[in-house]
Amino acid sequence: MEKEYDGEAQCDEPLRAIFLPFLSTSHIIPLVDMARLFAMYGVDVTIITTSHNATIFQKSIDLDSSRGRSIRTHVIKFPAEKVGLPVGVEAFNVDTPRESHSKIYMALFILQHEIEQLFEDLKADFIVTDMFYPWSVDAAAKLGIPRLMFHGASYLARSAAHSIELYSPHLKVESDSEKFVLPELPDALEMTRLQLPDWLRSPNPYTELMKAIKESEKRSYGSLFNSFYELESEYHEHYKRVMGTKSWGLGPVSLWANRDASDMAARGLAKEEEGEEGWLKWLNSKPEGSVLYVSFGSMNKFPYSQLVEIANALEGSGHNFIWVVRKNNDADDQEGSGFLEEFEKRVKESDKGFLIWGWAPQLLILENKAIGGLVSHCGWNTVVESVNAGLPTVTWPLFAEHFFNEKLVVDVLRIGVPVGAKEWRQWNEFGSEVVKREDIGNAIALMMDEAGEGAEMRRRAKILSDAAKKAIQVGGSSHNNIIELIQELKSLKLSKSQR
Ligand code: UDP
Repeated sequence: MEKEYDGEAQCDEPLRAIFLPFLSTSHIIPLVDMARLFAMYGVDVTIITTSHNATIFQKSIDLDSSRGRSIRTHVIKFPAEKVGLPVGVEAFNVDTPRESHSKIYMALFILQHEIEQLFEDLKADFIVTDMFYPWSVDAAAKLGIPRLMFHGASYLARSAAHSIELYSPHLKVESDSEKFVLPELPDALEMTRLQLPDWLRSPNPYTELMKAIKESEKRSYGSLFNSFYELESEYHEHYKRVMGTKSWGLGPVSLWANRDASDMAARGLAKEEEGEEGWLKWLNSKPEGSVLYVSFGSMNKFPYSQLVEIANALEGSGHNFIWVVRKNNDADDQEGSGFLEEFEKRVKESDKGFLIWGWAPQLLILENKAIGGLVSHCGWNTVVESVNAGLPTVTWPLFAEHFFNEKLVVDVLRIGVPVGAKEWRQWNEFGSEVVKREDIGNAIALMMDEAGEGAEMRRRAKILSDAAKKAIQVGGSSHNNIIELIQELKSLKLSKSQR
């Protein structure tokens, strides 16, 4: 007779999990943090990726192994030659040439069989795969194991997209800039057609992919989010209700998996040795809450015209700032880099600003007491990391689901001031909108205001930061979620072995 689940299912063998991140830095980072959490709670974890992508996180895995956790990377060879890509181009990142995108997808298609075989050979008890691998739900079904789907987004963003797919409110307004309310959501959130991702505005091949992802989610064991209940509880409940699926918020994963400075420094592409003499020394010389952290994530690049507006706004704001700047290879780059180098020299002399070129150790910076707020594109990981640090944000959504995240930050949580971005664009395009220095400056002034709404936002952000810290402690919402989920997965394994 099958043994009933008694809440304390025991297996002799540890649970074996395989994590499969997508080939893009900002999907890899949170899913790897999540994988590390499972290892922290006794699960035997293997992360499958290609060699170039492994460099983004291998240091963290080595640190965890040295702590005695059962976690490793299984590197598979990216079929660069077969798809005609130069060695090293293995991911959708800011510098990935547009013509390479379809080749990377082709490479993923080629790798699918090898990965499916690995699920079997490594005897996974469950798999956690990025949303962009809808095929993995069938692979898991063949093996009779659960597939959990990782969402790189917020519950609010997924709920908003679902609302638009279902009710098409954007087709009931007269113009691209007329506001409409997103139907059936816990709050009356207003947007315009121009702020919607193109695939939601009108069908394109990406719409089909998103449909496949949704279908695969419905057939999965459940979904995992880098979110915590107190951050968007109503949207968490709403999402589970409308989707009819199980889902667990396991965030903030950055806080949970990276408790030591060594973890924070190892994360992503940061170079540890730069810290002491550079940004850290500079930040430590600044008064508490006085510095703006200005960053637009790992995928964005701005045209020269926009960089000039940002630079002028920052200089004109009178506040200290750290600006993470990225050079790009487009036509106006020459002119742009000349301007930026001059700007860098000037703000160094005035000691008002610090430019970080390329990649910043964001977690370490955000937790520094000198930081008083962000100017950010509302990438979901950055939203969670800024909430965790108890900081308000000037919101400047650009692409992906950023405009939905802005709604959460500004309208629901009320810890953000919008810069007034009007138009969604592709992540690898400049778009036509240039946000003016006055608008950037006004939003910064409101957020950094020591009294009034600025102070209120900081107060609310601090409450959320405390909630984030509680969520991952024993008895906290995310903590309960991971313990319950692991218990559930153990029990499934046990009942499978008894069949
Ligand atoms: N990140 C970082 N340094 C950088 C840029 C990004 O550490 O210079 C990290 C950041 O902490 C976050 C992730 O990369 O965890 C970016 O994800 P997000 O969703 O915020 O934005 P995206 O890169 O997807 O636009």
